[in-house]
Amino acid sequence: EAGVGCWCDLQAPGPERRGPGGLTLLGAVPGAPSCPHGPALLFIKISQGKEAGRRFYACSACRDRKDCNFFQWEDEKVSETRLAAREEYNRNHQPSFTHRQNVERYKNFVLLPLSKRRFCQECQQLLLPAEWEKHSSHQFLCDISNGQLRSPSQLLYPLENKKTNAQYLFANRSCQFLLDLIISLGFRRVLSVGTPRLHEMIQSKASQEEDFRVKSLLLDIDFRYSQFYTEDEFCHYNMFNHYFFGGETAYETCRKFLYQDKGERVIMVTDPPFGGLVEALASSFKKLMAMWKETDKEGPNNQEMPMFWIFPYFFESRILEFFPSFSMMDYQVAYDNHALYKHGKTGRRQSPVRIFTNLSPSMIVLPVEEGYRFCAICQRYVSSDNQHCEICDACTSKDGRRWKHCVLCKKCVKPSWFHCNSCNCCALQNHTCEKTEAGCFVCGKAGHKRSTCPSVSRT
Ligand code: SAH
Ligand code: ZN
Ligand code: ZN
Ligand code: ZN
Ligand code: ZN
Repeated sequence: EAGVGCWCDLQAPGPERRGPGGLTLLGAVPGAPSCPHGPALLFIKISQGKEAGRRFYACSACRDRKDCNFFQWEDEKVSETRLAAREEYNRNHQPSFTHRQNVERYKNFVLLPLSKRRFCQECQQLLLPAEWEKHSSHQFLCDISNGQLRSPSQLLYPLENKKTNAQYLFANRSCQFLLDLIISLGFRRVLSVGTPRLHEMIQSKASQEEDFRVKSLLLDIDFRYSQFYTEDEFCHYNMFNHYFFGGETAYETCRKFLYQDKGERVIMVTDPPFGGLVEALASSFKKLMAMWKETDKEGPNNQEMPMFWIFPYFFESRILEFFPSFSMMDYQVAYDNHALYKHGKTGRRQSPVRIFTNLSPSMIVLPVEEGYRFCAICQRYVSSDNQHCEICDACTSKDGRRWKHCVLCKKCVKPSWFHCNSCNCCALQNHTCEKTEAGCFVCGKAGHKRSTCPSVSRT
C-alpha cells in the first residue's frame, strides 16, 4: 500500500525541483541530448549568493537518479566515443520486445486454452508456452481469463516509485464518474494520457457492449501496456517532453485519433504524476492541443481541445499560469492504491486531487449523492461544505472544508488558519513567522524570498 512517502509530501507549490540546491527547469530545447526516455530537459542550478547558474541536461521522465542517471552540462564537450556509447546505451535500454512483437504475442496468447495462459509476475509479461522454461523460477499467475486481459491495470502491479511512475489508479467510482461525465458531455473519443484505467474501462465496454460508441487512445510511458493493446490503442509516450517512442508512425496514430470524424468530439484526459514538473507537462499538453487544432478541417476556430487535467488542488495557480482558460472543479478524485485518500466525508480522509478543465464549469455536473450541490450564484457544482462567501462572491473552499473570510487578508482562508500580525497574513497558529529580512536563499538580498527572486528567470 502507498501512504509511506507518497506524493502528498509534495504539497509545496511553486517551482518544483527547486529544492535547497536552487534547481529550476528551463525546459525542452532544440538539440538537447537524449537518454533512453527521449530528449533530456534543460535545468539551471543556482548556488546560494551567485547570480549566474550553471545549466545542465537531465532525464525528463525520471526524477530519481536511480531510475535514469543521465546528466550533461550544457557547455560540456562530449567526445565521439562517448556519444557512440550513449547511443548504444539508449538502444540497449529499450524494451526487449517491440510493440509490434507484443501485438503478435497477444494474438497467439488469446488462442491458448486457459490452462496454458500464464503471466510472469516478476517480468510482468504474458508468457507463451515456449517461454515457460526460462521463467520457471519466477512467480506466475495461471489461467489468465479474457476478463483479466481486459483489465491489465489489475494484472500489472502499480509502479508506485513516486519519483518516476507514481501510478495511482482511479477507484472504480471515480473512473465511472469520469466516463459518465465524458459521455453525457457528448464526447466520443478520449485521448487518455497517463490514464490506463480510464482507457481500460472504455476499451472493455467497447468490446462487450454493442451500442457503446466511445473510443480511447492511451498515451503512457508504461510500456507493459503494449502487451494488451494494438498500435492504434496505445502509444508509448513521455508526457514530460512530448516524445513518442514509436516515432513518426506513433505520432501519426495520435494525429489521426485527434481528427474529429463527423462530429466525433474529442476530449483529452490526463492524470500525470503529481511530483511532475508543471511547466514541462503544460508544454507537452500545448503541443497535443496544437495537434488537435491542426487536424481541424472545418475551417478556422479559436477553440481549444477540451481537456480534463487531474491534479492536486494546491497546484491550481501553477496550472492557471499556463492555462488561463482552465478552472478547478470541486470533485475529489478517489484512488484505489492510495491509503490516505479514499473518499470519505469526515476528517481529513479527503482526496486533494481535482479536475481542471477548459469546459464551462456549469456543464460539469457533480453527483449529489456524493455530497456536491449546485451553487446558483457561481453557476457550478461545489462540495456541500463549500459555502458561498458574500464578500468574495464565490464558493471559496479549495479542500472541501468550510473556509472562513479574513477581512484583513481580504479573502477566505482555511478553517485552521488565523491572522498573524507580524506576517501580515493568515497562517497556522503555530507557524514560524517569515523572516524576509534574513535574505533570499538564491541571491542573498533582503526583501524577498527564493520563490520571487528576480535573479531567477522564469521561462
Ligand atoms: N489514475 C490513473 C493513473 C494515473 S498514475 C488511472 O487510474 O488511469 C500516472 C500515470 O502516468 C501512470 O499510468 C504512469 O505510467 C504514467 N506516467 C508516469 N510518467 C509518465 C511520463 N513521463 N509520460 C507518460 N506517462 C507517464
Ligand atoms: Zn531517462
Ligand atoms: Zn457560490
Ligand atoms: Zn471570502
Ligand atoms: Zn488574514
